[in-house]
Amino acid sequence: MKRFDVVIIGGGVIGSSAAYFLGAQPDFTGSIAVIEKDPTYAEAATPRSAGGIRLQFSTAENVLISQFGAAFIKAADQHLGVGGEGAGVEFREQGYLFLATGAGLKILLANQRLQHELGAATELMNPRELSSRFPWLNVADIAGGSFGPVNEGWTDPYSLLQAFKRKARAQGATYFKDTAVGLEHAGGRVTAVQLAGGESIACGHVINAAGIQGRRIAAMAGIDLPVHPRKRFVYVFDCRDEIENVPLTIDPSGVWFRPEGPQFIAGVSPDESDDPDAEDFELDYRLFEELIWPTLAERVPAFEAIKLVRAWAGHYDYNAFDQNVIIGFAPGFDNLLLANGFSGHGLQQSPAIGRALSELVTFGQYRSLDLRRFGFERLASGAALQEINVV
Ligand SMILES: Cc1cc2nc3c(=O)[nH]c(=O)nc-3n(C[C@H](O)[C@H](O)[C@H](O)COP(=O)(O)OP(=O)(O)OC[C@H]3O[C@@H](n4cnc5c(N)ncnc54)[C@H](O)[C@@H]3O)c2cc1C
Repeated sequence: MKRFDVVIIGGGVIGSSAAYFLGAQPDFTGSIAVIEKDPTYAEAATPRSAGGIRLQFSTAENVLISQFGAAFIKAADQHLGVGGEGAGVEFREQGYLFLATGAGLKILLANQRLQHELGAATELMNPRELSSRFPWLNVADIAGGSFGPVNEGWTDPYSLLQAFKRKARAQGATYFKDTAVGLEHAGGRVTAVQLAGGESIACGHVINAAGIQGRRIAAMAGIDLPVHPRKRFVYVFDCRDEIENVPLTIDPSGVWFRPEGPQFIAGVSPDESDDPDAEDFELDYRLFEELIWPTLAERVPAFEAIKLVRAWAGHYDYNAFDQNVIIGFAPGFDNLLLANGFSGHGLQQSPAIGRALSELVTFGQYRSLDLRRFGFERLASGAALQEINVV
């Protein structure tokens, strides 16, 4: 039987970041295997992501996680370059703009206080300031907005995934194209990962980085994760009129949009009450016609004359308990690690989460950013750590 010190199930942006950070960790000298069932990532969340990075969260850890993520991505060439070549990862630091009507303004203010304490540059703006900075915006019904000009914007998700993977391999990680179908475990330890190909791989540690399949992997060790596949749509459209200096903007309705090259992309998250589990990729054009387009046209008059070009669907690995990642040792195990339930912000979290996982494997504890509040224990105790700013 093959044996690796660390077996990572899932080679998306989270699994590949963990593989990279482990390989880059001077105190870790072990071997790393990444099991990825589909190296084309046709259905994985990572390439279907909008790539947004923001510090405007309501949970302190999320602000700090994204701060590290933004700094890491800005210095991607230095961290992830291989053989003298750059990483090919760009950061468009064009900002995030949350808009609020009367009721939402108090929340923006409370969030801004927390974000400032943690070093974020979030600016609260009144309608007049919004109009002068973003003249294309209709602020008639807007009470205010919060704009994050520093360390907020977007990156290309697939490039980031490939850069992590390339560097992880260059450092010695081995990627296997196979599907994990079982975990052999006894006495609080996973001893081997069973593969669909019939082989088993013996392991020191196992990391569950299987995206929307994370719940199934955890169930193989008898653990129930409240992580559900929730379908989201991204619509790509052309706008005839040129509008400039557009951040990733979130309307009070939840509809968001941002530039994507010469075009724009937009989407919306549904109400929790209307958000069933789904693993299919069927598109919903009515959502665009009936909700998104009218909202866009109301918010940005230039968007009255837009043309839908294409759309895609992808899945959040949605933590129905509190919309925050579940990271740390699985209950009752000292070598099975969870990194699940990112709820739509895993791309920007991938650098900090990969680093955190490498520390848990190497030292048995966090060294740089204390993420204990994101552990599984909060589920057992019922102490939700609710993230309000889920887009
Ligand atoms: C439409 C959309 C927009 C988003 N926008 C943003 C955003 O703006 N900002 C942001 O930060 N995040 C965003 N996200 C979320 C982000 O994309 C995810 O949180 C992140 O990509 C999760 O990475 P992952 O590696 O955990 O999952 P994935 O990329 O899904 O990777 C998991 C991998 O595990 C593999 N796998 C599963 N089961 C097995 C098995 N049994 N054996 C072997 N391999 C297995 C899969 O093939 C897959 O490749 C968005 C997501 C979607 C869908």
